[in-house]
Amino acid sequence: MSTSIKNIKVSIQQGEQSLTAVVQAFLDKTAKSKTNSFVETFNEEALAAAIKIEAKIKDGSAGKLAGLVIGLKDNICYKNHIVTASSKILENFESLFDATVTQRLIAEDAIILGRLNCDEFAMGSANENSVYGPTHNPHDLERVPGGSSGASAAAVAEGLCHASLGTDTGGSVRQPAAFCGVVGFKPTYGRISRYGIIAYGSSFDQVGIFANNIEDTAIIAEVISGQDEFDATSSNQSVPNYSEALTISRKVKIAYFEDTVNHPSIDPEISQAIKDKIEALKVLGHQVDPVQFDYTDHLVPTYYVLTTAEASSNLARYDGVHYGYRSDDANDTESTYVNSRTEGFGLEVKRRIMTGTFVLSSGYYDAYYGKAQKVRNLITQKTNDILDQYDFILSPTTPETAFKHGEKTDDPIKMYLSDIFTVHANLSGIPAISIPIRNHSNGMPIGLQLSAKKFDESALFAFADSCMKEI
Ligand code: GLN
Repeated sequence: MSTSIKNIKVSIQQGEQSLTAVVQAFLDKTAKSKTNSFVETFNEEALAAAIKIEAKIKDGSAGKLAGLVIGLKDNICYKNHIVTASSKILENFESLFDATVTQRLIAEDAIILGRLNCDEFAMGSANENSVYGPTHNPHDLERVPGGSSGASAAAVAEGLCHASLGTDTGGSVRQPAAFCGVVGFKPTYGRISRYGIIAYGSSFDQVGIFANNIEDTAIIAEVISGQDEFDATSSNQSVPNYSEALTISRKVKIAYFEDTVNHPSIDPEISQAIKDKIEALKVLGHQVDPVQFDYTDHLVPTYYVLTTAEASSNLARYDGVHYGYRSDDANDTESTYVNSRTEGFGLEVKRRIMTGTFVLSSGYYDAYYGKAQKVRNLITQKTNDILDQYDFILSPTTPETAFKHGEKTDDPIKMYLSDIFTVHANLSGIPAISIPIRNHSNGMPIGLQLSAKKFDESALFAFADSCMKEI
């Protein structure tokens, strides 16, 4: 089954395959899957949509995404469907409205197959913090798919849908994409509306895309990007037709951070794979230079101070009154709040709410939150300076390949360090993409990350596409 949306549409138009059969095949495969990726599939609706959209493809009235079957991470709202952020506190919560991204997908005739497992409230790097149980990596079920959008990556890698949406606050699209061997894209902050996304760290959160190739990623991006009156942080910059500009004929300038490629935490085979790609790019005539970046070891601490602070504020709304779960021991206001939150949130979410409340508390605000804001500014300035001189920054996506289940569960710091190369783009608001480059000798995929200037997604897609084909 071809995975390029454009080809699928043509083959349906020519009667070579039926969209209903495509959807049915995904549903059958999902029912047998051992990865625990989809936590719910919308069988009847998806099949009914397939009949309608197939007719539209045949009479020429179909939207841009006709033929595409997509999964949604379980923190993206879809009207009249359950959305829980994989948390007990939102057990059986039904969304009253569509997220802007959901509405835009449907308006262009994408078929939504179901909702995908994730780490609770998108907090995690292994998709192990979920009320639905862990998701497994399709390349090796004993290994994690990455997180927090682990199942969004696993489902595309396993062939349970053509593409999926996730969210990326610190790497939650790119890290699982690297672990599962698919493309994972995080846009510039403000490029895609956050309306209808369950908030984690609002100044970091962005919707991201998983697909098998850049062309599909680019088409989905051009559909869901753009200003939205419901999200004041969405940009009014116009959205180019990314998928029609996928060739880049000029030679580009690429920077890489020497201490990233040689970082002590990095697996030697990943380091070598990245160095090989750097050489291959030079052979093609591109300029690739090592540049000084002194903040690598400050990235993860800065990210975790700021995002836990934002999370503690965002998650205050789950109080046993407004949404979802209420404790059976709720007898008055205090016990409603305390018992509902104690029983409803998982361990990692509680750890972050407490950390965030601490860093925002009056005695520590300046030392932690205020300081981290300043470091974020320095990181952003330095990044912008580098991108004034270079088209792209290249790095590994992750320091290691997908690890085994349980390997880091008891050591949050170890877990947090797996985000070391991805949080940079979220701290500085730039777009970034992870592409699969080769397999490690342990059989697991390795990802290469490219990031670009703010709102330079066009060049990023075009160059990433050429890298996937040429190096
Ligand atoms: N792994 C990171 C975290 O746990 C990133 C999560 C994300 O991007 N949602 O916060």
